[in-house]
Amino acid sequence: MELSQNALKVLEARYLLRDEEGRVIETPEQMFARLARVVAATEAAYGGEVPLWERRFHELLGSLKFLPNSPAIMNAGKAEGQLAACFVLPVEDSMQSIFDTLKNAALILQSGGGTGFSFSQLRPKADPVRSTGGIASGPVSFMKIYNTATDVIKQGGARRGANMGILRVDHPDILEFIRVKRDAVELANFNISVAVTDAFMEALRTGGDYPLVNPRSHKTVGSIAAAEVFAEIVASAWSTGDPGLIFIDRINRANPTPLLGSFESTNPCGEQPLLPYEACVLGSLNLSRYALPPGLDWAALGRDVATAVRFLDDTIDANHYPLPAIEAMHKGNRKIGLGVMGWADLLILLGLPYNDPRSFALARQTMRFVRDRARAASVGLAEKRGVFPNFIGSIYDAEGMPRVRNATTTTIAPTGTLATIADCSSGIEPLFSLAYQRRVLEMEFTEINRHFLDSARKGGFYSERLMAQVLRRGTLAGIPGVPPDAVRLFQTALEIPVEGHLEMQAAFQEYTDNAVSKTVNLPESATEADVARTYLLAYEKGVKGVTVFRYGAKKGTLLRFEDID
Ligand code: UDP
Repeated sequence: MELSQNALKVLEARYLLRDEEGRVIETPEQMFARLARVVAATEAAYGGEVPLWERRFHELLGSLKFLPNSPAIMNAGKAEGQLAACFVLPVEDSMQSIFDTLKNAALILQSGGGTGFSFSQLRPKADPVRSTGGIASGPVSFMKIYNTATDVIKQGGARRGANMGILRVDHPDILEFIRVKRDAVELANFNISVAVTDAFMEALRTGGDYPLVNPRSHKTVGSIAAAEVFAEIVASAWSTGDPGLIFIDRINRANPTPLLGSFESTNPCGEQPLLPYEACVLGSLNLSRYALPPGLDWAALGRDVATAVRFLDDTIDANHYPLPAIEAMHKGNRKIGLGVMGWADLLILLGLPYNDPRSFALARQTMRFVRDRARAASVGLAEKRGVFPNFIGSIYDAEGMPRVRNATTTTIAPTGTLATIADCSSGIEPLFSLAYQRRVLEMEFTEINRHFLDSARKGGFYSERLMAQVLRRGTLAGIPGVPPDAVRLFQTALEIPVEGHLEMQAAFQEYTDNAVSKTVNLPESATEADVARTYLLAYEKGVKGVTVFRYGAKKGTLLRFEDID
């Protein structure tokens, strides 16, 4: 297996099995064999050929062309092997529900999964509490308890506890929520997003007010100017990256099982809307391995999409769920989220700049292909194994709709760690820099992106002097004597305008059942007006949510990225 040094380091630190003394007891090769074996074993229940699928899964994983989400790799074969990355739990307006869910979230966190919560149902601050005669402390106070609990739990877990906290824009405590993370010590284990309604966006457009509603009494308790709330959101996001927005009405219009309830929250990084108690297993194809200039190796990609869908569907049966309610929901809807990583690498290999109409068109073509093949594979599975149990009343239960095994098949994950293991660029993000730091045995190295090195050699503009400059600056911008085509091809995240980031996100979203993980990176000099423009444009472009991060902004947490060490 050809694993990069960074990949080896990450695998050793967190993924390879250990004995009771904490000694690593498997090689990466054995790790993939274990994962393939555990997942393929479920084939027996459906009359599938276990050895055949074990071999195919092992080959695909070992080629680093496809990886499932981290918990699957870490936990497959363990006694309590929990294999899904994404969960949402309900928080209802009672002490019972708040603390039951906190306990359940603890079980998920221990297993390496991340949980999203909507706090929108909690009565606002100062609302009466009948049983005690006192007054309520409000959603933000309970989020702080969840945050503290996460601090304690994550010490024992395999990875950092990731939570998403959502509040609807019409909750009376919305301003407190929007401002809470301006203090970097608050809610460090949470990404937070405001669930923005179409009514809010309309009020913002027309310069109007909108009602604030007490979720307990359903009474309107006041109204507020949409522009005032939006300005507060923008000010917080400019200084810390939080809150993001999720466009909750749009997300619910794409709900495949509306009879089972509506979405109030997504998973921690925003790419997966889920119903209460629902889970999802994600997996990502490494597109950098399918480059066949001037295009992609579609035949190979199509075959691998089908194998990956089968792998993810099998993973649901191989999973050990932390709660019966979650098992019932996941096995009822059988949601899987196949997506892509290595997109920026692929574009470089094809000589296409990230911010270019040809790249947006290729994004649509590629994701449409992945979605169509993934659905076809899901239909193929349904023929043998049956449609997902909650099929009746779902959007697929209609004339001309495919009879699928999975209520959703596609999601674009951040691939914070998977991309390091597969040695490719993350998700659909552009390269952040052409040079990056690496630490090996206490020593720091700076390395140059290998695709850039290759291209500089082939393009005839390689020189020691240029490389030294790139090492220092991380970009070609402003270095004299570099061919203009190369400068455009290697534009990094901070040089790509907001429009380019969002156009790419929208291109992928168009053909993705769930949502797309994407951060709009802004330079340090970006203004609040730039953030406002980004959030408004995101709504216009039809994406399901938006996150910004301004370089150098203070953030108590970097949950949207993953540390290597
Ligand atoms: N996640 C988590 N903790 C982490 C990173 C990720 O719980 O430290 C969850 C979270 O729900 C996130 C999802 O895993 O949305 C996918 O993240 P990513 O693709 O970065 O994970 P990877 O599989 O690469 O580790």
